[in-house]
Amino acid sequence: MSTLPFASAGPEAYTSRHATWPPPPPGLPDRGTPYGDWLAAVFDRWWHAGRRRTRVRIFQECIALLLGLPAATEQFGLQPFTAAVVETDGTIEQVDSLKTAYPGAAATGLDVFAHSFDDALAHPGVAARQAGLAALAPDCVACPLVTVCGGGHYAHRYREGHGFRNPSVYCADLQRLIRHIAAAVTGEFGGGAVA
Ligand code: SF4
Repeated sequence: MSTLPFASAGPEAYTSRHATWPPPPPGLPDRGTPYGDWLAAVFDRWWHAGRRRTRVRIFQECIALLLGLPAATEQFGLQPFTAAVVETDGTIEQVDSLKTAYPGAAATGLDVFAHSFDDALAHPGVAARQAGLAALAPDCVACPLVTVCGGGHYAHRYREGHGFRNPSVYCADLQRLIRHIAAAVTGEFGGGAVA
């Protein structure tokens, strides 16, 4: 397996490290789809194991979406994202991963002393994550994988000067992984999971 710098939020949560446009994460674009390749190899080991030793959330969520089932996930799909962070001083922020986009990206200007969580839902940054397809870049809207991919992790879409309405910086890797998992699911259950 490669030595690319992956992040894992726990034994169930393999994911690519947080990154935005530009610069692209290490290995991109020169090495094709190194993150998708790595995750596909992990998936194969997990999928073909004689018995399921662990849950791997990213794979389970992808399979659920390929099968047309709902999946509550920050990485995939078009479901509204509904988490918020309350800091120890009472300020309400968006999820911490947004801090990888730029300083202050997670801030809302709200706090629990003067605002409700309904106020937080109306914040433009939060509202964009409730809008599903309407919040995505044109390339994503036209993408045959969009109902599964959903444009990728929100933080990974950020491009300086262009905001978050961009395909994920891991777009090619996501396509590689989703099509790989779709082929395995199709082989197991039949039918065509994605175009
Ligand atoms: S990030 Fe790439 S793979 Fe995902 S929906 Fe957008 S264009 Fe499709």
